[in-house]
Amino acid sequence: MRSNQDLANEALKGSGQDFSIDHLADHASDNTEQMISIALLEGETKLLESIEDAIHKIDGNHELAFGMCEDCAEKDRWDPATTAPWIPAGRLDVVPYARLCVRHQERAEAE
Ligand SMILES: [Zn+2]
Repeated sequence: MRSNQDLANEALKGSGQDFSIDHLADHASDNTEQMISIALLEGETKLLESIEDAIHKIDGNHELAFGMCEDCAEKDRWDPATTAPWIPAGRLDVVPYARLCVRHQERAEAE
């Protein structure tokens, strides 16, 4: 029976590369670490954008006022009977850079 190393060498034959299984594993591990780093960076970038937007809203340099839910503020999604455009103060105490009210945040996370 052929070893995994033999199978790997055969699979890579002609590719011009002679990675061993160990090298392939290292390569896959590097890719995974890279993907995790990119995901973390994307999350941090989004967070930074939310914080910057919150500062602009506080300074009055944004189309919305600080504390206004971005989804509630869109007329077509704002039903005055059931929602208000304002994010509750308690939520802003915990997440001052929140863009959405709890209801719309839950809806966005479910999508
Ligand atoms: Zn809302």
